[in-house]
Amino acid sequence: MVAFDETGPEKILQVYDPAGGMKGFVVIDNTRLGPGKGGIRMTPSVSVEEVARLARAMTWKNAVAGRPCGGAESGIIADDRKMSKAEKRAIVQAFSRAIKPVCPSMYIAAPDMNIAETEMRWFAEANGDNKACTGKPEDMGGLPHELGSTGFGVFHATKVGAEHLGMDLNGLTFAVEGFGNVGWFAAKHMTDAGALLVAASDSRGVICDPDGLDFDKLAETKKEKGTVTEYSHGKAGNCEDILGVRADVLITAAIPDLVKDGDVDRMRFKLITEGSNIPMSHETEKKLYKKGILVIPDFVANAGGVISSYVEYKGGGVDEMFKLVEKKITENTKIVLNKAKEEGHDPRTAALKLAKERIESKQ
Ligand code: NAD
Repeated sequence: MVAFDETGPEKILQVYDPAGGMKGFVVIDNTRLGPGKGGIRMTPSVSVEEVARLARAMTWKNAVAGRPCGGAESGIIADDRKMSKAEKRAIVQAFSRAIKPVCPSMYIAAPDMNIAETEMRWFAEANGDNKACTGKPEDMGGLPHELGSTGFGVFHATKVGAEHLGMDLNGLTFAVEGFGNVGWFAAKHMTDAGALLVAASDSRGVICDPDGLDFDKLAETKKEKGTVTEYSHGKAGNCEDILGVRADVLITAAIPDLVKDGDVDRMRFKLITEGSNIPMSHETEKKLYKKGILVIPDFVANAGGVISSYVEYKGGGVDEMFKLVEKKITENTKIVLNKAKEEGHDPRTAALKLAKERIESKQ
């Protein structure tokens, strides 16, 4: 059962195509700032409750990112491993046609699990309006994931966090959990700014060297051997060893629930930037805050993707996207960290208050 509160959800639309078997739903959480933006998740187990939680996260993320967009998310119940391409296309297009009464007027779709640019092409074609979704292929005006907008934003959030703590990125040490789209780009920009990468992990484990890992060589190792743990030198370990690394900064860029309450004692970072979604609970963040470790929350730090998606929606290009990601992530991270300091809260509490204030001010 979805819980309703003062924020939303405003509308839940359930759709079904008896002929083709498509079953799906859209949860439009809050549209006070603009049409709700959020992904389409296609899994066999996706539920209205799961989608409602994601829609709420999008409400906060878009509000803090300062975009004229609300929060929404949708789901299609289907197992794409058991479908041919033609069957998947038929399901996505049936879903697109069924939600046309709210899309794009109240909901603008985007990729999420098992939905990428090809599916967004099908979705936009079935809707008939190119503005029905973002994450489309380049030939339809899309801004591809491979540009690394989220990792670029995570880097700028980290830069603001470091400055907030009186640290210069040049010479600072950092570790990155996950070396995929977000982690790779964040680590690249950090390295370009003069920071020293001392540990990196992926699904196979972690590689650490207090004297520094060469970013280009590490990227080459990941590309050629499929894992950072095959890097030529340094100490390899288990994935969770990343939490015990001695570095000024940790950038999370892989799994949810990475940090548990029991890890707080052994952690010695000064700053953690949450590039991944929900790497820890709010309670754990509060414990780290009490310990003096600054945590920049996920929906503040990793909003580069939604900002890029907004630029695509407005018909903008690559340069405009990078400029806006830098500007908005820098501005909003500063606002959140200063608000947290002034009001004596942890940053997530301050960011949630900011998001609510922005939504309520737009009555
Ligand atoms: P990705 O699939 O490109 O990369 C994930 C990386 O994590 C891979 O290198 C994988 O090997 C590694 N990994 C998996 N299990 C691990 C473990 N136990 N320990 C360490 N590393 C592990 O994914 P991504 O797009 O980079 O997304 C990473 C996180 O960022 C996810 O939480 C995602 O929801 C979040 N996020 C991504 C974007 C985006 O635009 N890509 C936007 C917002 C949030």
